[in-house]
Amino acid sequence: MIEGKQEYIRIVLKSGKDQSVRRYHPWIFSGAIKKIYGTPAEGDIVEVYDNKGEFLATGHYQPGSITVRILSFEKVIPDRDFFRKMISSAVEYRKQLGFLSDPSTNVFRLIHAEGDNLPGLIADYYNGVVVLQMHSTGMYRIRNEIAEIISEILSEHLQAVYDKSETTISFKSDIRPENGFISGSAEPSIVLENGYKFYVDWITGQKTGFFIDQRENRKLVQHYSCNRDVLNLFGYTGSFSVYAMKNARSVDTVDSSGPALKIADENIRLNYGEDSRHHSYEADAFEFLAGCRNRYDLMIIDPPAFAKHNDVLANALQGYKRLNIKAIENIRPGGIIFTFSCSQVVSKENFRKSVFAAAANTGRKVRILHQLGQPADHPVNIYHPESEYLKGLVLYVE
Ligand code: SAH
Repeated sequence: MIEGKQEYIRIVLKSGKDQSVRRYHPWIFSGAIKKIYGTPAEGDIVEVYDNKGEFLATGHYQPGSITVRILSFEKVIPDRDFFRKMISSAVEYRKQLGFLSDPSTNVFRLIHAEGDNLPGLIADYYNGVVVLQMHSTGMYRIRNEIAEIISEILSEHLQAVYDKSETTISFKSDIRPENGFISGSAEPSIVLENGYKFYVDWITGQKTGFFIDQRENRKLVQHYSCNRDVLNLFGYTGSFSVYAMKNARSVDTVDSSGPALKIADENIRLNYGEDSRHHSYEADAFEFLAGCRNRYDLMIIDPPAFAKHNDVLANALQGYKRLNIKAIENIRPGGIIFTFSCSQVVSKENFRKSVFAAAANTGRKVRILHQLGQPADHPVNIYHPESEYLKGLVLYVE
C-alpha cells in the first residue's frame, strides 16, 4: 500500500555526511547515518535530516549498505499522486523520444530506476507487456499500485504487467517475492526492434528477458559487419547476430547456455529463414577465443557483469583484460572488436584502462573507433554516476 502519512521516521546524518545528498545523489549509505528516530520497517518511507536538523530528502528505507533510496529532495508526501506524476514523467519522456509510436520498435525501457528518479524500480515494455523488476523493498511493497498507475497511463498500449523481482530484492530482505502476473496475462511473444523480430521469454529469460540496452550498439554492429566473418561471444539469444546477419559473410554465436542458443537459432530463422551463414556453439567464451586465430574479422564481446560489488573490482578488471587480450591476439589484421562492460562498479576509465592494458600486452596497433554507452531509454541521472553502467569500445586492430 502507498502510505499517505504526514509523519515519517526521521534519520539524521553525521556531521559532514550531507554533502552527497546536497549534490542530489540518491543514495544514503549506512555509514553516513548518526541516528534513526524509531524503528522503520523494511521499505517504509523515511525522512533524512542533517546534523543541525535541516530537512534533506524523503526516501525508501532498507537495512543494508544503501539504507535510503531517495524519492525526493523536497518535503513531499510520496502518495499515489506522487508516484503517478513520476511515472507519467518517465512515460512522457519516452513518448517525446518517439517510443510507443514507432512501428518498427516495440521493446524499450519504460522506467530506468535512478535514471528516472525512481530508485529501485525498473520497468521494461515488450509489445504490450510491462515487466517490472524491483530492486528495493519499498518499491516492491507498492508494486500493485505501480502496476495500476502504469495501466492507467499506458491504457490501450498495455495488455499485462508481469512482476519479476524474485532475484532482485536484497537477500537481506524478509520479503520472499515470487514472479507472476500482477494484471492481465500474455504468452511470451515476438517483439520488434528496428524492424527485426525477436522471440522474448520474460518468464525464463535473463534480466527482464532481453538486453534492450544494446539497441543502438546493435545497429553499429550491423554497419561494420558487411562482408565480415563475425563472432558474437556471450551471444545469449543472438540479438547482435541478427543485426550482423544483414550483411555479414558468416556469423557464429557462442554462449555457455544451450537454451539461450536455441532461441538465438530461432531468432535467426524468424528474420532470415534457414541460412547456412549462421552457426551456434555452446562453449566457454574464453576457451572458444583461444582456438580461433585469424578466423574472424569482427568480434562482439558482451560478457555478464564481472563485478557486482566493489570488493571484486580488481578481479573483474583482470577478467576484462584477459578476455580482451585473447580477442586482440586472435582477430584478423584489419579486424574490428566491439567490447563491453555492463558492471556498474567498473567505471568508464577503469574499463578503458583494462582494454588499453590488453592491447599493450599483445603489442598490436589498436585504434578506438567509437566509445559506446546506453540508449536514451536508459537515461543517466547526472547526479548518480553509477547509473552509467554500460560501456563499450569499438577497436580497430591492425
Ligand atoms: N550480448 C547479449 C547479452 C549477453 S548476457 C545480448 O545483447 O543479448 C551474458 C551471456 O553470457 C549470457 O547469455 C550467459 O549465458 C553467457 N555466459 C556467461 N558466462 C559465459 C562463459 N564463460 N562463456 C560463454 N558464455 C557465457
